[in-house]
Amino acid sequence: MLIRHSFHDDLPWLRGNLHTHTTNSDGWRAPQEVVDEYAARGYDFLMISDHDFLTEPGSIDARGMTLIRGNEVTANGPHVLHVDAPSAVAPDADRQKVIAAINAAGGFAIVAHPNWEKSFAHCPRKDLETWTGYAGIEVYNGVIRRLEGSPLATDRWDRLLGLGRRVWGFAHDDSHRPGDDGIGWNMVQTADRSAAAIVSALRQGHFYASTGVAIERIRVCGRCISVETRDAERIVAHSDYGHREAVVDGPCMALTVPEDATYTYVRFECWGRGERMAWTQPFFVEQG
Ligand SMILES: [Zn+2]
Ligand SMILES: [Zn+2]
Repeated sequence: MLIRHSFHDDLPWLRGNLHTHTTNSDGWRAPQEVVDEYAARGYDFLMISDHDFLTEPGSIDARGMTLIRGNEVTANGPHVLHVDAPSAVAPDADRQKVIAAINAAGGFAIVAHPNWEKSFAHCPRKDLETWTGYAGIEVYNGVIRRLEGSPLATDRWDRLLGLGRRVWGFAHDDSHRPGDDGIGWNMVQTADRSAAAIVSALRQGHFYASTGVAIERIRVCGRCISVETRDAERIVAHSDYGHREAVVDGPCMALTVPEDATYTYVRFECWGRGERMAWTQPFFVEQG
């Protein structure tokens, strides 16, 4: 048995958000104001993701952060984040074409807020399970806290993972106005703060998603996976289709995957105080 995973033993964690809007679409603040806000919060990287518009980082003072080029493909269908975008792609109603265009341009795609709207199906399940080539989905989108639907989409994630799809879980603010900032972010493992290195680490899943719980160390030794947090009060290990393999009340969990495990992945949710949580990427259990 092999446990395939995407974490490093010892690399610094950088904090960043890939989903925020400015006055270049329907955000309330100018790009520089938004960047100032995130820099003041101690973020390491930020992607401005205006709707169908590429806000050029070159004209902004990054205030020491790394700015990643991107946008949110919006018109004509479910919203898709385009990370590392040389230019905005056409918002074709066929989102599979959009995802292909994003990949062809050298970037990667994240399906945004799948459980937004009264239907809880901004991104219909059938689409999510049919499309290929996207890197992941937002398992938490902060702005949905004040809209219809659910900010959480771990239900979608467990279905996809259960079906054998290897997609990453991201947490983002989707900030549009003051009060939307600092709710959901990603902690990325990389010693190199360049945009290229951060994008590469994200693409390979070297990160966890958070709304406040801090994971300090993730280790895999043989069949044992250990997750150490600073402030989780409960850690839950989920496997295929959300099944709970283990629960610990405390900041750390060590899970030994049984030799005869029938599940194909396990991922860890770390629950803290209030709405603080953190989500590891899945650890894939490969038999044989
Ligand atoms: Zn959106
Ligand atoms: Zn958005």
